[in-house]
Amino acid sequence: MKIKYTNFMLMGLLCLSVTTVAAIGGKKGKAVTKKSSAIPPKKFIDPANMDLSVKPGDNFFDYANGTWVKTHAIPDKQTRWGSFGILAQENTDRLLVILKEASKTPGLPKGSLKQRVGDMYASGMDSVSIEKRGYEPIKADLERIHQINSKAGVVNEMTYERSHAIADPLFGVGVRQDSKHPTKYIVGFNQGGTSLPDRDYYLKSDARNVKIQNAYKTYITTLFTLTGTSGETAVKNASIIFGIETELAKAQLSRTQMRDPKVTYNKFSVNGFEKITPHLTWSQILPELKIKGAIDSVLVGQPEFFKAADAMLVSKPVDDWKVYLEWNILKGSASTLSSPFVKASFTFSSALSGQKVQTPRNERMSGLIDRSMGELLGQLYVEKYFPPAAKEYMVNLVNNMKIVLGDRIKRLDWMSAETKDHALKKLAAFSVKIGYPDKWETYNGLVIDRNDYFGNLRRIEEWHYNFNVNQYGKPVDKKRFNMTPPTVNANYSPTNNEITFPAGILQFPFFDFHADDAVNYGGIAAVIGHEMTHGFDDQGRQYDADGSLHDWWSKGDADKFKERADMVVDQYNGLTVLDTIHVNGRLTLGENLADLGGLNIAYEAFKKTKEGQSTAKIDGFTPDQRFFLSWAQVWRSSQRPESAASRILTDPHSPEQHRTNAPLTNIDAWYNAFNIKPGDKMYKKPENRIKIW
Ligand SMILES: [Zn+2]
Repeated sequence: MKIKYTNFMLMGLLCLSVTTVAAIGGKKGKAVTKKSSAIPPKKFIDPANMDLSVKPGDNFFDYANGTWVKTHAIPDKQTRWGSFGILAQENTDRLLVILKEASKTPGLPKGSLKQRVGDMYASGMDSVSIEKRGYEPIKADLERIHQINSKAGVVNEMTYERSHAIADPLFGVGVRQDSKHPTKYIVGFNQGGTSLPDRDYYLKSDARNVKIQNAYKTYITTLFTLTGTSGETAVKNASIIFGIETELAKAQLSRTQMRDPKVTYNKFSVNGFEKITPHLTWSQILPELKIKGAIDSVLVGQPEFFKAADAMLVSKPVDDWKVYLEWNILKGSASTLSSPFVKASFTFSSALSGQKVQTPRNERMSGLIDRSMGELLGQLYVEKYFPPAAKEYMVNLVNNMKIVLGDRIKRLDWMSAETKDHALKKLAAFSVKIGYPDKWETYNGLVIDRNDYFGNLRRIEEWHYNFNVNQYGKPVDKKRFNMTPPTVNANYSPTNNEITFPAGILQFPFFDFHADDAVNYGGIAAVIGHEMTHGFDDQGRQYDADGSLHDWWSKGDADKFKERADMVVDQYNGLTVLDTIHVNGRLTLGENLADLGGLNIAYEAFKKTKEGQSTAKIDGFTPDQRFFLSWAQVWRSSQRPESAASRILTDPHSPEQHRTNAPLTNIDAWYNAFNIKPGDKMYKKPENRIKIW
């Protein structure tokens, strides 16, 4: 099963990564009241987690987190472990309590919220039935593909798999906001058709990549063998599939190239699109995809990719495409079939991630239900675990942070008054979503049967597919929440010009009602600042106050921004993980700008609080020291080498130790707080410190 329903909805969202939240009590804006209950004797900045043998100016991440990292091994079922992961695990444990309770409640009305989440969980936990069925659930799909005997049959099958939400062969398509007319939906096409997490996995031949390529070929061979193909044919199939996918990968744009939203905005009439892909008759395919209504134009993310894919439809024989289509069925369902399939799927994914043992079935189920019916499960989560006061606190904190960012924009010495006016207009238009949606999605019509796990999965996929395509021609619904309530993350949507903080991140170490302001400002306020800065990063700045991809910058100001952003690119290009693998400063630019901006905004807001203006120490640290230590605490994390290597290619976020340290080197207050001097390894001369937002 694909389980990636929201891919189109999420296009263009810029997130925090693994996430969190914090608090404020600014002078300007509305003051935030804290709860008056007794303060527990908890150390919000605990020296026991730090490594005081490291000089803060040599490696602040190690100074702040060193002992914690040394004394907390990564659990075998995880690929990395730290503040985000710990909160996510706690949320999973909570969801499991809810799911178990729902699954055991007898006599729930059919179609009710609890019946559906409880029965979905029960069906997924019924390993006896799942084992008994083996790969029987996909036999009809494989048989249908065996019957294909023409190129037309290949294209029809691709369309069928997509419109029934079974698989996404060759490319991606869906209904999304039109970035230049964000109040309208449009049909969008994107490159796709590959299985490894990035095109580089196919194209680079260093030892690490070759190992993964081999693991991938073994995975293909295993799944074909498990479905009755001879060993010899299975090996041949792996070579055919790897060949097709490598050719597709070559035609794809890189992640870095796709960071420019103008590059991926290519509008075609349906006829015009057919002209560049003569073997894909979109005027016939689009109705088959259940996209109803007059379609005068479509957006094509990567026209060259579609030309190449179309040419491959001609150059490759029907039999090769049949193998490729079978593979799309196999890889999409392996993790949901009987244990030999699940085991093969895990063996392959652990080659990529380094994960030692499979995630327990119950946790896989809670993750799946969160992703697929998250606004049913989320209602039960919020009722139990999200205090309404947290929402109020966040609303005030965000408002205070907006005031600070506005002041900072007004003070910028590199931006003209005219561009500042546009920037302030955009800031004033930011909308904010906190905790959970005002109106919950009901998943109307989605039937969940306690005794039919695979059927449930197919119905879920199809429900989400239909939901997406049925948006076409309707007004854009800006009320929708783009993450589920327990998610430990936050994001910014450029086309909605909005920032979102789900309930899951509004917990310590991001935010705690009992913590001092330094902790909450170094945590959740920096996260808020991060998401706000996304509105003005290398991508976000290209969208205006209405969320439209429309340039509001004067040429001179844009040049000055790029000059400063290039300094950030250079700084991060110089950083490494696993000793020799360099961070891609261009791929991670937006997140790095957001980290730097977010921390600066949060610090300025913190300095307006009572604690920010005092020098009184808590647990041995000054308020400023606690602010920066809280920032480092949020990024506390260790990860497996495989995961680190994979994330460098795929993750627009820099590794956690660099997210912690690199922004600090540009912030004067950090130097003052810890008395950082020339000679310290992180020291940068004042004139080299990068200032943007
Ligand atoms: Zn981000």
